[in-house]
Amino acid sequence: MIVIGMDVGTTRSKVAAMDETGRPQIVLNRRGDPFTPSVIYFEDGRTPIVGAEALAEGFLHPEYVHSCFKRALGSPDGLHTDASGKSYTATGFTQILITDLKQDVEARFNEEVDEAVFTVPANFQDHKKQAMIDAAGAAGIKVVKLVHEPTAAGIAYALQKKRDFRFVVFDLGGGTLDVSILEAAGSEITVLSTTGREKLGGEDFNARIERLVVEQFAKETGYEPTVESDAMFFQELADKAERAKIHLSQKTATKIVAGCQGRQAIVEITRDQFESLTSDLLQDALGCTTQAVEEASLSWTDLDSIILVGGSVRMPAVQSALADLSSIVPHCDIEPDRAVCYGAAQMCAMEFAKQGKAIMIGGRAIPTPQAFVQEVTAYGVGCCVADKDGALRNAVILSKGTSIPTTKTDRFSLLHEDQTEARIEILQGGEGQAYDECLSIGEIVLTNLPVEHKKSKRIEVTYAIDANGMIRATGKDLVGGEQVEIRIDYSKGTTSSKPGRDAA
Ligand code: ADP
Ligand code: MG
Repeated sequence: MIVIGMDVGTTRSKVAAMDETGRPQIVLNRRGDPFTPSVIYFEDGRTPIVGAEALAEGFLHPEYVHSCFKRALGSPDGLHTDASGKSYTATGFTQILITDLKQDVEARFNEEVDEAVFTVPANFQDHKKQAMIDAAGAAGIKVVKLVHEPTAAGIAYALQKKRDFRFVVFDLGGGTLDVSILEAAGSEITVLSTTGREKLGGEDFNARIERLVVEQFAKETGYEPTVESDAMFFQELADKAERAKIHLSQKTATKIVAGCQGRQAIVEITRDQFESLTSDLLQDALGCTTQAVEEASLSWTDLDSIILVGGSVRMPAVQSALADLSSIVPHCDIEPDRAVCYGAAQMCAMEFAKQGKAIMIGGRAIPTPQAFVQEVTAYGVGCCVADKDGALRNAVILSKGTSIPTTKTDRFSLLHEDQTEARIEILQGGEGQAYDECLSIGEIVLTNLPVEHKKSKRIEVTYAIDANGMIRATGKDLVGGEQVEIRIDYSKGTTSSKPGRDAA
């Protein structure tokens, strides 16, 4: 049997399997590489090719190359239409990528993969989590459990350390930042807080270099390349900026040779210059870290270590800024690129053990990692209410940082006594946050309400959140008894129309 953890990254995907000694190991892909670029190229506009081949073969046809689609996961928008008219969404791309990863594992172990643990950023909204589950399902893999990426890295670390301590997981990858505070005590691993940015990662640092090069190029040659007319220039520039950034993690200066429309410019970039061009990104990441510590009701002196996860933590400025902020020297005791998928594979072993499966690898039973993991919600979920002045706000029922799985209930009154219908709009956001600043994730409609000539808290709203962080919502009229339960329908995307809200 194979016990698999899959970390489908914004820029690179990684897979780990438990070995016969009970430890996670990275699964090399069919090329022999430990990581697969999360890139798809449609050869001739129709045949999908994944990973390093996609990058190489798609070089001349940037219009058929798709990357960073994890950021759009769960969106109904089509990103590519092939020659036969078939349209692909980000979820469709993710399915193609997971199918490729599945084939890598099967080629290596000569065994079919039909179950695995998958990871997602902690701040992933529910419809994105659902899209990951759907993409895996469509690729023929049942998601045994969905684990937050920083939690997975924390599991790998806690299982390696085997002692009681509190630590920060700082995960800065290609597209997202996750910061979680965890506590390991005996076999219990508890997430104390989690926060992050859905759009903050290595790609944003690359973009700053790209902008600098375009500006310098225009200054030196008098020609400003545009995405519309110079697609190839930007394709090459993305690659060069990525390399330059990685050089700057080792060296204090590097050069980019840029050519477009028969003109050429050599742009020199120093590490100092790069750090000042990106200082706001780093400040944002540090702000998240401070917030995570505060939300755990801790101060830095309560914390024992900071573990660095994700390729972007190799930037020296990230490490030194975190050390300055915390007075703790952060470390990479587990390889930053691998910690997440290691923890996912370990979690898979734990889930199989919970299901009573004996885990046999290479003909013998492997020791199961012993841990009980307590996860928390990454955002608040409430419903839309009108305040005294009529302004629409979020009344939080499940607050950010609640341990999951859990069920929470609250009661609301109708806006008008003679209402016969109530719409309960489910909002993601903070307590009291204005409606327009929240994300609307679903709606329950209760109809045929008997009129009661007094104001009472007759509408009961219950949110049940499962171990994967997915919500089931129930609305009940305590007077008439009508009850409606929904699993939020993520297939529609989250940009729901704003119906007339006349309730709760
Ligand atoms: P994800 O899981 O989001 O795909 P990874 O954790 O695999 O991301 O990290 C990929 C990111 O790490 C890329 O943006 C890449 O440029 C960056 N990266 C990798 N190595 C280095 C390095 N030495 N210096 C700076 N950034 C790096
Ligand atoms: Mg990652």
